[in-house]
Amino acid sequence: MQFFSTRDAALRVSASQAIVQGLSKEGGLFVPESFPQVDVQAVCGLDYPAMAAAILKEYLTDYDPAFLAQAADKTYGAAFGGKAGYLAPVSEGVYALELWHGPTCAFKDYALQLMPKLLVEAKRNLNRTEKTLILVATSGDTGKAALDGYHDIPGGEIAVFDPTGGTSEIQRLQMATQEGENVSVYAVRGNFDDAQTGVKKVFADPEIAAKLAQRNTCLSSANSINWGRLVPQIVYYFAAYAQLMQAGKVKFGDEVDFCVPTGNFGDILAGYYAKRMGLPVGRLVCASNRNNVLTDFLETGSYTADRTFYKTTSPSMDILVSSNLERLLWHVTGSDAEVADLMNQLNRTGRYTVRPETLAAIQETFSCGWVEEEEVAQEIRARYEQDGYLCDTHTAVAFHVAGKQQRPGVPMVVLSTASPFKFPCSVLAALGAQVPENDFEAMHALEQLTGRTAPASLAALASKPERFSTIIDPAQIAQVALGEE
Ligand SMILES: *Cc1c(COP(=O)(O)O)cnc(C)c1O
Repeated sequence: MQFFSTRDAALRVSASQAIVQGLSKEGGLFVPESFPQVDVQAVCGLDYPAMAAAILKEYLTDYDPAFLAQAADKTYGAAFGGKAGYLAPVSEGVYALELWHGPTCAFKDYALQLMPKLLVEAKRNLNRTEKTLILVATSGDTGKAALDGYHDIPGGEIAVFDPTGGTSEIQRLQMATQEGENVSVYAVRGNFDDAQTGVKKVFADPEIAAKLAQRNTCLSSANSINWGRLVPQIVYYFAAYAQLMQAGKVKFGDEVDFCVPTGNFGDILAGYYAKRMGLPVGRLVCASNRNNVLTDFLETGSYTADRTFYKTTSPSMDILVSSNLERLLWHVTGSDAEVADLMNQLNRTGRYTVRPETLAAIQETFSCGWVEEEEVAQEIRARYEQDGYLCDTHTAVAFHVAGKQQRPGVPMVVLSTASPFKFPCSVLAALGAQVPENDFEAMHALEQLTGRTAPASLAALASKPERFSTIIDPAQIAQVALGEE
């Protein structure tokens, strides 16, 4: 299996190369040259680690399959408390795919616990011995998941940049207390876009690259533009389907719909890959918060990133440029020239419009809906009071949209992307309870109110020493990269 660039299909690389490099040199994203067809029924009979290994080996063909099996075992066994890909029944025909039983309590653990292992092995496959410096701008969940995944990996260092005041207190503490010799965390003055732009500047600066090369260091990204972030996420769509078959809710071949709380379009795109690999996925429903740039696009074919940015209670979906949509555009148009043109328009003008045929092809699989802030809170309360199901703000966005898009007789699986205890203040407020000032008191109050227990890794934060407190300006990210800070 080789990988193309979405903006230059003549450019082909191996899976190892795609993972080490992250982004193609002309700015395109790597996509697989074909969708491997698997024996879906056989894959559905496997346990989660074996299922992961079976899917990974279809794409990562230059990796040793024994290595992939071992990496999947190590990643998705004990670290997920035996609940990797766990599907919880919620109400008639509606299920929650709980993706937050990993170490940092958000779905990004699925990719970021595995990716460091894939990176180290890719360097071995390619006989590369340089040090890898990973820079991550985060609005919250990615930063912690990346720190947890990359801490103490051989030959790598990681620096994370989070906006001052842009994350929940729990998210900030998750990062500030991270252990490991090769990690650092900086709060960047400004919002997420300021941090992100600062990091992108460093990646695009040839002088910095040259200086780092002299020290045998290469920059790399852990953001979801990397193919290594996407491929592990395909697995849990299979796991959900397998559990519905085992529970007798579907026969093999029956369609299942999935509703995904979406930001960068990575998680939902993995469902598209699962469908193209033969899994009987019906509709993929894209759920947005008030930053509804994607739902506008899926309805009209016009993508307009130049619009007001809203800070919402589902911060990991507060995003206006959804990078992974570029991959879908490539798969439906099959034209690198067309994708390159659209992405140039986006860079120049903040908007683009696809051809009507392209939109129609996308709408065959994708539908969408978006949710106002009051509806998020109402949904958390409704699921709790009507179904006894406690969910976080991101998952609530998807539940609300799923409720409107459910088809008679077709099971609807909502991807539950974060633990409710990661956003205890918003969840408490939604349940109509008094909200304490401090996140830990809120966590405790939520436990008392609901009789559920907060994940141990979150509760433990209260007593962990904070290691990182440096605040920098976006312009200083370059100095950090060069070790001058
Ligand atoms: C990152 C994130 C999302 C959005 O996922 P994308 O792959 O960026 O679309 C949704 N919910 C939570 C909790 C997240 O951390």
